[in-house]
Amino acid sequence: MPKLRATVHRGTPRAIALLARALQRGELVAVPTETVYGLAADALNPRACRSIFRAKGRPTNDPLIVHVHSLAQLDQLAIRNEAAAAVAKAFWPGPLTLVLPKRSCVPDIVTSGLDSVAIRMPAHPLLRKLLRACDRPLAAPSANAFGYISPTTAEHVLDGLGNRIRHILDGGPCRIGLESTILDLRDPKHPKILRPGAIERPELERVLGRRVSLVSRHLTSAKKAAIAPGMLTKHYSPRTPLELHAKLRVPRSTAPHADEAFVFLCPPSALRKTKAPAANVFVLSKTGTLDDAAHSLFATLRRLDRGKWTRIHAELARGQSALAIAINDRLTRAAAKR
Ligand code: AMP
Ligand code: MG
Repeated sequence: MPKLRATVHRGTPRAIALLARALQRGELVAVPTETVYGLAADALNPRACRSIFRAKGRPTNDPLIVHVHSLAQLDQLAIRNEAAAAVAKAFWPGPLTLVLPKRSCVPDIVTSGLDSVAIRMPAHPLLRKLLRACDRPLAAPSANAFGYISPTTAEHVLDGLGNRIRHILDGGPCRIGLESTILDLRDPKHPKILRPGAIERPELERVLGRRVSLVSRHLTSAKKAAIAPGMLTKHYSPRTPLELHAKLRVPRSTAPHADEAFVFLCPPSALRKTKAPAANVFVLSKTGTLDDAAHSLFATLRRLDRGKWTRIHAELARGQSALAIAINDRLTRAAAKR
């Protein structure tokens, strides 16, 4: 493969037009979304989609999410049941992916040969412009090397894939910072969350008028693979060992942990009066909201992974809100041993 060096494009009308043509020719473009950056290709072009797997080093038994700009585009790719129509109306454009029975035009490489396809209508204004300009559904997994932490800035994409792709569209830091909620609606009477994200489960239940189950990460991997291939126990992982704590204590500056990093989602009470915490203490959310913590989680893990730390300690989120569950899901996968 020839060495490439990606160009980072600002979202000007000219750049959008250029990138739309690149996608129509079957090239890859890294794109901003409100969740994480994606590595996009024309979802109806099997050769283009195959190059996504090559660039990421992703196994082809891990199917891709297809991004659309309209319900008409969804209907070309999948069979929309009433449940899908209801949640699409309530949550799209937004961080919700629907798994639905697919139509025959969707190439096997996109769905790993399954008879279902995962579809999302993203909210990021630049990606919406690009989807409209290229007028193709775009298959896009996260724009990182397989297994590493998902990218939430154009710079993260450049760091990880800069010499494997030609184009990156810079849309600024991702607003949410965690991957979409994946809702399986193949059987609309038994909706299941395959991957937790920012959408609250009670909200989905209200819109669907029935219980929504959360596929547990404690299922055996064979069972999980049967429901949703690609739901790996280990994923999103820094190279530095990561240790999780239900309650993390602020280290004393004299403690023998100077080479270990301590990550808090929200400001711990022991720090509230301290102006400058020790250099090995990191607080993801200055305001104390989980939205802010989610927004900076992956960026902070990447930064710490590049630092001199021998170990990263992180505190788990408390409570049962969607973001608490999603953050703990990503942290648990990031900390899992292979
Ligand atoms: P990502 O890694 O963010 O691209 O998310 C893709 C994930 O969506 C995969 O790892 C699967 O778990 C899930 N997925 C995609 N397509 C399907 C499908 N057709 N059926 C079930 N799950 C799917
Ligand atoms: Mg991914």
